[in-house]
Amino acid sequence: MTSPRQYFKQACGIARFTWNWALEEWKRQYENGLKPRAFALKKQFNAIKPVDFPWMYDVTKYASQQPFIFMQTAFNRFFKGLGGYPQFKKKNHHDSFYVGNNHIKLDGKYIKLPKLGWIRMREALRFSGKVISATISNKANKWFVSLNVELEQMPKSCESQAGVGVDLGIKALATLSNGKAFEAPKPLKKFLKKLKRMQRSLSRRVKGSHNRQKLKQKIASVHAKITNIRQDSLHKITRYLTDSFGGIVIEDLNVSGMLKNRKLSRAITDIGFYEFRRQLEYKSKYKGNYLLIADRWFPSSKNCSNCGQKKEELKLSERVYHCSACGHEQDRDLNAAINLKNLLYQSG
Ligand SMILES: [Zn+2]
Repeated sequence: MTSPRQYFKQACGIARFTWNWALEEWKRQYENGLKPRAFALKKQFNAIKPVDFPWMYDVTKYASQQPFIFMQTAFNRFFKGLGGYPQFKKKNHHDSFYVGNNHIKLDGKYIKLPKLGWIRMREALRFSGKVISATISNKANKWFVSLNVELEQMPKSCESQAGVGVDLGIKALATLSNGKAFEAPKPLKKFLKKLKRMQRSLSRRVKGSHNRQKLKQKIASVHAKITNIRQDSLHKITRYLTDSFGGIVIEDLNVSGMLKNRKLSRAITDIGFYEFRRQLEYKSKYKGNYLLIADRWFPSSKNCSNCGQKKEELKLSERVYHCSACGHEQDRDLNAAINLKNLLYQSG
């Protein structure tokens, strides 16, 4: 009996091998003045497979068939100028394989693959609907399955008329104009500390040593944990926002500009601004929220949310907003969030 790990590794290897075979053949044919098509390459491949690659039959046939479909898609994108020229895949960088729904069965926390049988997942699928496909991949020595599901029920659309402004910050992950704030999850801080410690100790270990290699693997797994925690907390915030508010305003942070500021860059990469915006965009699309991205130059932090007066200068260290015109005093992030929310009610 092959273990799930062996099976996954083998299927990833086959998917990678097939992709690389197809890409090489594509290039060869093209250089010989032919017009390669993935479909024809697949036929060619399947003709030699029983003799040349008999070991491929140990896993789902998708591992050695789907890469051709992906390749055609990749070249189509390339021809349209939407993507780069397809590249060869490397071991430990591209470890994944696709399985179509006729080769998957799901039952609660269990998933079944051909020639492997039932295996347990960490958690059951949270949506009900038709499973279209699965992609199994390796990250930091852990195996993940991502399931593509066609939802039976669209999520209920948001009926609230309320509006909200969201300030993404350093102190709190997100501060809302209604006064609610989402703090960074505690385990995140713990793991970030741990990561720092491990990275320091890595620099002291001898290059190429077994110990260094082991530590490197541990670091990768802490990284993966951090990504998961972060992702999870962002989902909580974006779900709350799209469930509770019909109108949402966020900043269009000039991320590349801010990344030059080292103090800020840490905070921004930590909260995953891109990911936050991506989640908010797709969730508000299917729940029908109105999402407004404030102009990049809108001074949400510098304006007084009470009288509208604009400060010329506001240091990053000033955590409380003081207005010299009207005397208004407020937490800096809350002041910014209210300014963002007010954009909903301004025309033009
Ligand atoms: Zn004021």
